[in-house]
Amino acid sequence: MKPLQELTRPNIWQLKPYSSARDEYKGATASVFLDANENPYNTPHNRYPDPMQWELKKELSRIKKISPDRIFLGNGSDEAIDLVFRAFCEPRIDNVVAIDPTYGMYQVCAEVNDVEYRKVLLDEEFQFSTDKLLAASDAHTKLIFLCSPNNPTGNDLLRSEIEKLLREFDGLVILDEAYNDFSEAPSFLEELDKYPNLIILQTFSKAWGCAAIRLGMAFASPDIIGILSKIKYPYNVNLLTQKQAVETLHRYYEIEHWVKTLKEERENMEKEFAKLPCTVHLFPSNANFFLARMTDAVNIYSYLVSEGIIVRNRHFVSLCGNCLRVTVGTHIENEKLIEALKKYPIDKHI
Ligand SMILES: *Cc1c(COP(=O)(O)O)cnc(C)c1O
Repeated sequence: MKPLQELTRPNIWQLKPYSSARDEYKGATASVFLDANENPYNTPHNRYPDPMQWELKKELSRIKKISPDRIFLGNGSDEAIDLVFRAFCEPRIDNVVAIDPTYGMYQVCAEVNDVEYRKVLLDEEFQFSTDKLLAASDAHTKLIFLCSPNNPTGNDLLRSEIEKLLREFDGLVILDEAYNDFSEAPSFLEELDKYPNLIILQTFSKAWGCAAIRLGMAFASPDIIGILSKIKYPYNVNLLTQKQAVETLHRYYEIEHWVKTLKEERENMEKEFAKLPCTVHLFPSNANFFLARMTDAVNIYSYLVSEGIIVRNRHFVSLCGNCLRVTVGTHIENEKLIEALKKYPIDKHI
């Protein structure tokens, strides 16, 4: 890996962050707070939240077995994705490389930040090749994006290939593990010590059932976390979110139960899908959704909408012609989808 200073935009490296009232006084003993122009009434919502979210990080640190100085928390993983562009990529000069197809936010953030986004097609099994990613990169490639299990394909990326990329790429590797809870593949969290160029993304939005509270996590070396923390909005994670997240972490057993149920439901749905006349191929999944190639995805999508059922049409995505991405829901929701598809008039387009 290149030295972090060389990978960071010079203005960001030199930046002295905004120092909020809560940054300047961190003690716990004061009882009169007249430093932040807050309203003294309407507790607890009158006070600015902890800008570094220490209580929440302490809880996470216990569950993820990683020290708090390796954790960044943001307004969804989307905030962390945007921040890595802003921290490391000089607009119009630097570029990033990503697998294709994958999660759309990487490209959107690249475009917002005016950073070239280079796509490298996966193979027919939706696996990537480190050699191909490196061949697409040059001296200005700061970041390479991977997502495992990948969205929208649903499969785990090969661990040996991820390790090879981490060893051979001299920039930063962003590994999005939004769906890792559903996979048998171990998280790369335990490998953080080994790979200083690794940034892992996880989220409260999927297995943890908290998409509404907007909380995403990034795990990396303390130096990288320091840079992200320095450029985030001072109070980027609000009080309600911090409280709700701590409460959710106390109910960890419940999340494990959800994950087990959703995996069973996915297997059941895959069996049912395989029997449908309108299914052409089912791609194996390690997530809480699966990708299915259909006889004609566009028409089936519209038919399902008319039945009040919404899935994701991925027909226009690379390698996903005629594919629908189906999220696993409750047993009743899943049955409704299957029943509707059984009724789909296979040879008569609507
Ligand atoms: C859903 C999803 C996320 C989560 O984003 P949040 O902003 O945390 O809700 C991140 N990455 C991928 C690949 C996803 O599919």
